This record gives sequence, C-alpha cells and structure tokens, in this order.
Amino acid sequence: MTANAGSSIQLVNISKEFGDFLALPELSLTISPGEFVSFLGPSGSGKTTTLNIIAGFIEPTSGDVLIDGASITGLPPHRRNLGMVFQQYALFPHITVAENVAFPLRRRRVSQAEISKRVAEALELVGLDEKADALPRQLSGGQQQRVALARAIVYRPRVLLMDEPLGALDKKLRERLQHEIKRIHRDLGITFVFVTHDQEEALTLSDRIVVFDQGKIVQVGTGTELYERPENRFVAEFIGEVNIFSPAEYGPGQTMRLDSGDVIQFTHASKAGQKCVLAVRPERLKLAREAPEQGDNRLLGQVSSVDYFGASRRVGVDVPGLASTIWVREALHGNSPNISLDDRFYIHWCSGEGTLLPA
Ligand code: ATP
Repeated sequence: MTANAGSSIQLVNISKEFGDFLALPELSLTISPGEFVSFLGPSGSGKTTTLNIIAGFIEPTSGDVLIDGASITGLPPHRRNLGMVFQQYALFPHITVAENVAFPLRRRRVSQAEISKRVAEALELVGLDEKADALPRQLSGGQQQRVALARAIVYRPRVLLMDEPLGALDKKLRERLQHEIKRIHRDLGITFVFVTHDQEEALTLSDRIVVFDQGKIVQVGTGTELYERPENRFVAEFIGEVNIFSPAEYGPGQTMRLDSGDVIQFTHASKAGQKCVLAVRPERLKLAREAPEQGDNRLLGQVSSVDYFGASRRVGVDVPGLASTIWVREALHGNSPNISLDDRFYIHWCSGEGTLLPA
C-alpha cells in the first residue's frame, strides 16, 4: 500500500457539556501531519469524548475542529475521511474477511477491480492475506482486530483514530500488535490518534503523548519528556513509579526537612512562595548496608517488601517518621546479593536527581 501524507488536526478551545456535567472544560491541541499521538489518562478523564469529537460522533458544545486547517465541525462522521478502530471489532459475522474489508469501498462505489486490489493490499499490510476467505468467527481476537484495522485503512484515510483497540487482548498479543501498529504507521505515513489508559502502551507507540486528567490536558510531550520532566504531580505519578518527598519545612538554601527529621538537598530551584514536593524515580535511588559517602542524600530504613521482576526487583523501605514506603528499583545481575524483609538499608541518591513539583 502506498504511503500517503497524513493530515494535521487542530482542536481549538473545545468544550463539552453532557446536560449539566462539564466533561471537557476547555481544550486545545495541535497534532502534526503523520504524527502518532496517544491520549492517555485514567477512566473518565475525557479521552474518548475528545476522540469522538474529532470523529464527529459527538458535537462539541463550543470550539472548533480543523483538519488541514479547514473546519470540519458539523460535518457528519462519514464525510470526514477518518478511519476508526474500536475496542470491539464490530465485524459482520456472516461475510468473509475480504468482504468485511471491502465494505467501506462498496459504500463509496469503488470499481470491483480497484476493490480487489486495495483489499489485497490492506490484508497484506496487516499480515492476513491468507485469511481472506475465512469468516470472522474462524479467527482469533488478535486476527479479528487486524481485520478491523484493514477495514479502517482500506479507503486510505489521512487520519486513523483508535479507541483502546487492543483492550480486549491478552498481554503477549497486545505487545505483538503494538509492534504491528507501529510498523503500519510507518508504512502508511498517516496521522494516528490512539486512546489508551495503559501508560506502557502509550510510551511504546507514540511520538507524543497527551495526558488527560478530569477533562483537561495536563501535559503533552514525548515519553522521555513526560518521564524525565513531568510538569506536575499527576503526570509524575501516572507515568511510571515515583517517590514523593514532602517537606515538613524548607531549610536554608535548597534543602528540605522531612517528617523523619532527615534533611535532603535538591538542585532545582523552587518558585518563590510555591509549596513543592520532590519527585524521585525508584531506579534513581540506591541501597547500601553501610552509611554512604557524604554529599549524597540518605535515609535509613527497614525493608518491608521485595517484588521480583526477573530483570529487576522493587524493594519497599519504611523510614521511621515517613508516612509512605520508599520504593527502590534495582537492576539484577547474576550475583546480586539477597535482600530479606526487615533488613536495614540506607537509601541514598545524588541531590541532582529528582524533579521539584508544585505540591
Ligand atoms: P475510559 O477510559 O473509561 O473510556 P475516558 O477518559 O475515555 O474514559 P470519557 O468516556 O471521555 O472518558 O468520559 C469523560 C466524562 O464524560 C466521564 O465522566 C463520563 O462519565 C462523561 N460522559 C461521557 N459520555 C457521556 C454521555 N453521553 N452522557 C453523560 N456523560 C458522559
């Protein structure tokens, strides 16, 4: 299938009310042609509503949707030339795979010769050329979702919208299809918008991730930006794991005293007058049985849990006076020493690690 350019999408001051419930207060976003963007956020945060506003299934209460700079607000879904894949495959059960894929072309009155050519291309793209004559019920869930994908791209839309398309599949199959979807995106060159509540999926797939919370976009960025430079506590806690250190009081210079009485340093400047917390990823913390050298931040605590993940382990350490367990993620190698419950360890880290965030 030949690559065709994707469209840009612009959401301008979109809001959506359902009765007297304000689902989206005000939302603006620009997606570049050919970009792979994921909408990520907890259940009820507004991802599907936003996708459906782009698709035309929901009209916004106010604001405008532009495709390639032209307003499409008010245009019915079938005139927007956008492909759509849902969690439920919604295939016609009584017709073959090839006929399911051909369906959007028949509705568009494309010639039979052209239909045969494009269906074959689409099925090849999703790796199902040998199943053209099968019925949907003869396919696995993953194969049915590939058919749905082929059907969504067969008429060469310039944007593909996907709402939790892998939600019904098991973990291994999800991962396989994630790679397929990435490859298909590369091959087609069109714009992909992908809704998921699974942060690993969003990190694996996307050029940029749009993080939603309570109907608002709380940050937009690449996976690395969101992970390394979260702008707020919600993003820090939603993407990956994080330890949050709250100050009992700020000390002189860039230090804070914790409820345990320990004083820790940070290098980022806090905004004057703003209450902040320090967020540090578990893999940036280290464990030592002996007091580490001066200069590092250190806290003494007792192991309360050890979770084994094969390539790494997560050690929970309780520090007297701190309400939350501190999590340390260690890469494992053949001769990693054992850690037992109740062992005492220093947790230590360089003061340059971590991000200072508004409390
Ligand atoms: P999920 O991951 O569970 O699908 P989501 O982030 O996609 O969640 P939305 O489906 O966009 O969330 O819903 C956003 C909010 O709007 C939710 O509080 C939801 O209850 C509400 N909502 C969505 N559709 C309607 C509707 N037709 N009528 C009333 N409220 C609605």
